[in-house]
Amino acid sequence: MPVLVMKFGGTSVADLARIKNAAQKVKREVERGYDVIVIVSAMSGKTNELVGWVEGTSPLYDAREYDAVVSSGENVTAGLMALTLQEMDIPARSWQGWQVPINTTSAHASARFVSIPRENIDAKFAEGFKVAVVAGFQGVSAEGRITTLGRGGSDTTAVAFAAAFGAERCDIYTDVDGVYTTDPRITNKARKLDKIAFEEMLELASLGAKVLQTRSVELAMRYKVRLRVLSSFEDTDENSGTLVCDEDEIMESKVVSGVAYSRDEAKLTLLRVADRPGIAAAIFGPLAEAGVNVDMIVQNISEGGEGGAFTDMTFSCPTNQVIRAKAAMDEAKAAGSITFDDMVVDSDVAKISVVGIGMRSHAGVAATMFKALASENVNIKVIATSEIKISVLIDRKYMELAVQALHDAFGLEKA
Ligand code: ADP
Ligand code: ASP
Ligand code: MG
Repeated sequence: MPVLVMKFGGTSVADLARIKNAAQKVKREVERGYDVIVIVSAMSGKTNELVGWVEGTSPLYDAREYDAVVSSGENVTAGLMALTLQEMDIPARSWQGWQVPINTTSAHASARFVSIPRENIDAKFAEGFKVAVVAGFQGVSAEGRITTLGRGGSDTTAVAFAAAFGAERCDIYTDVDGVYTTDPRITNKARKLDKIAFEEMLELASLGAKVLQTRSVELAMRYKVRLRVLSSFEDTDENSGTLVCDEDEIMESKVVSGVAYSRDEAKLTLLRVADRPGIAAAIFGPLAEAGVNVDMIVQNISEGGEGGAFTDMTFSCPTNQVIRAKAAMDEAKAAGSITFDDMVVDSDVAKISVVGIGMRSHAGVAATMFKALASENVNIKVIATSEIKISVLIDRKYMELAVQALHDAFGLEKA
């Protein structure tokens, strides 16, 4: 039997009625002749609640216990989905990560797949079961502890199963009907894309477009999984949604294809760092060890110019890692490996990015971007560029305005 992977996100399984609605979509695919692997998220809001409980109990929590708690939301929806399908006379069985087993690394809260053996699920299909419902987001480490894959990780579970089972397609059902030029909740001028290139989707996702977890796009690209994003609330067919595919499958090409934002950014500056060879390693080594995901970095020119004794070092990271970053820097200072006068934290910044493979061959994108922000009086705090993206850090209160201005400036709106 051909295999199809269908993933339902939090809003798509938010209550019993929605689980039933999702199950109906699964039933349709079973009737078309597929063996279906259904990946479910926790009910919407559940994972946030669980994370809140962990942080409320222990601010610098042990990540093993974080995973034990936050993975539990998916267990509930997996069981409920299997029961709902059984009520519809579809033979279905649920699986938690450890039961498959979904083997991952031991990097708690951001684990990666090691292997997904097919035997157990294949055996159930061979017995006549039509649907395997798998709890997304979770796995098990070599030590036998429960792990999670990072927020939004059920998307990655779905793509990994599609790769492991050679699925015909991996359909990601969510609360929007596809991938848009920007978050449709920020501007109603956002346009749905019929297709988007893997590279662009990868950048958009890593720059904040949470419609797909970054890692899921990486895996789909590597294993050539046909990945589609579509609505769980609308009637859908083979042509619905957005297909994430190779660049050469796309006819229409624009210099910029999307605008992404990330709200939860913080900017940290170490003031008057003693400037000497090895100083960057002495700062960013401990940050990495503390699990801080440093994004942008700016080192100011030293006081007194080239060869001066002191400099300021600025970097950005997610707001929820500021406590860890501060602790790591204070510890390094106390141990004498770095010196600085003060650490200034600005937790009210957002990152806005424009993405497009057309940038490779077009000059002037940065100028257009900066002009559009200037005309809205938005001050840029930090800039970073790569081959197909330009990102800026700005005050968070201008985030929506900046996204809208850039969406207009690059002519992304609906025709
Ligand atoms: P799920 O719970 O189904 O995994 P998510 O909330 O993780 O859903 O992702 C879907 C959300 O992603 C949408 O509701 C939308 O607000 C947001 N989003 C951000 N950027 C985009 C984009 N470019 N296109 C579509 N949706 C986007
Ligand atoms: N429930 C997890 C989260 O909210 C995983 C997911 O939904 O993809 O991050
Ligand atoms: Mg998601």
